[in-house]
Amino acid sequence: MDTNTLLADPVAIEIEKFVSLDNAILIVVKTIQPTANCPKCNQSSGSLKTRYLRSLSDLPWHNVPVRIELHTRKFRCRNEFCSQKVFCERLEKVVVPFARRTVRLAQAIEFLAFALGARATARTATKLGFQVGKDVCLRVMRRRLNSINRNNQVSILGVDDFAFRRGINYGTILVDLESREPIDLLPDRTAETLSKWLAAHPEIEVVSRDRSTVYAEAVRSGAPQAAQVADRWHLLKNLSDLIERFFINNHCLLTQTSSLMRAEHLAKESEIPLPVAEKPDDVSNTVTVKPVPARRQKLFDLIKVLRLQGKSIRGIARELKVARNTVKKYICCEAVPYHRSGAGRPSTVLPFAEYLKKRWREGEQNGFRLWQEIRQQGFSGEVDAVRRFICEWRKTAVGKMICPISSRGLAPRKTTKLLLNPESAKNEAEYAFLTKLCEISPAVGRVQRLGMGFQEIVKEKRADLFDDWLTQVKMSEIKEFQNWADNLLADEEVVRNALSSSWSNGQTEGQVNRLKTIKRQMYGRANFDLLRARILHRG
Ligand SMILES: [Zn+2]
Repeated sequence: MDTNTLLADPVAIEIEKFVSLDNAILIVVKTIQPTANCPKCNQSSGSLKTRYLRSLSDLPWHNVPVRIELHTRKFRCRNEFCSQKVFCERLEKVVVPFARRTVRLAQAIEFLAFALGARATARTATKLGFQVGKDVCLRVMRRRLNSINRNNQVSILGVDDFAFRRGINYGTILVDLESREPIDLLPDRTAETLSKWLAAHPEIEVVSRDRSTVYAEAVRSGAPQAAQVADRWHLLKNLSDLIERFFINNHCLLTQTSSLMRAEHLAKESEIPLPVAEKPDDVSNTVTVKPVPARRQKLFDLIKVLRLQGKSIRGIARELKVARNTVKKYICCEAVPYHRSGAGRPSTVLPFAEYLKKRWREGEQNGFRLWQEIRQQGFSGEVDAVRRFICEWRKTAVGKMICPISSRGLAPRKTTKLLLNPESAKNEAEYAFLTKLCEISPAVGRVQRLGMGFQEIVKEKRADLFDDWLTQVKMSEIKEFQNWADNLLADEEVVRNALSSSWSNGQTEGQVNRLKTIKRQMYGRANFDLLRARILHRG
């Protein structure tokens, strides 16, 4: 076998021998080409000045570290006009000048560092059979970043913001929508920073952005030549946010629908057996004494024994890992004391059981609201007593059957999703909820028509329907939509561009998600430049 193919550049170097060391493999290698080129003037020279030795780390072999003893040479440059009198021969494919690691090991470290982060790379390296500190990884990443993105040209740019810490500070991510790669990260989301960046890129033709005024202003001042396009993804997000707000403002519609549905359901299922509260019914008025649990009995005995041995309360508590008060209490007692709480005593809720059962069957299954109701009737206990009382009912299949939709109705966000996409209903009940909701409120029907209409305009790029849609909004008398339409018209050209342009920020959102993942992987410790390095690194 030709062992020389084990190394990166068999033309320039030759393996002399392998030496097995205690915890490593040593490969002795020498350079074999008769001449070398001067790095300064590139003239070939065969005039040997001296030989010397370089010690290198290479990729591990079966997790065993590999070291290379490289016998290399220095040559004289014979070009009389060259300032470099003596030079070391270059082995670009094997090792760069002054490096202590071979090129392929350095590459492996770089790949790992960008994929895992510095700390994780340092840990992983040890397991794989080579050593690298986290500081080295950080340096590798920073150095690499300087060589990425020197002259990144971009013509179709997507702009979006992301949170370093939600609600506190934000940055801006810039994505090349053609190559689908992030091309830069800005440390904030101000107009000045973005505008400065844009000014350095006169080649930009289209900027796809969300509808914030800050970015609008930045593009106007930094890239006046570029056409601005409102991002369709954000337009659709604005739409669903707006409908959600409509349901938050009109929450009573949701609860109303739910109680109607529950009443109908109950009418159908009126023959179901009542849930039975076994525990409270059984105990009637006599106190039943439950046996002491074995665990507590054992603890009690142990404490007594240790006390007899003369141990302190504090010592016993520490040894048995129980509270000092427990030890004190048990020492004073003749037998295991009963818990003061609940077990065995009749529930104070009992006098209200019939009423609770009735309400439960009517569909009210929220402990807190039931508690409020019986408090009006004179119940003086805590809400937890009511919750304990009904928890048995909740467990039974009957309890579940009664309530396909909770008494508060579906959440506004869920309702919005259903409204815009009825096919997304997970079950009959959700579908029925939506139908009922549209039945009881004509406004909801209008919201649905407007919402789905806008969705169609954006998704199918039906710019021709936009004016029609605006007229419908005007006539709809739904103020959430009317405000939004005004807002869209303030930015009209950009919105209309969105309806005809083929560019959208959908993938920018994907990049923001990737960014979030990397940011979390870095535990928030990383500096901005490292985050930037990892986002921009490819491959
Ligand atoms: Zn030279």
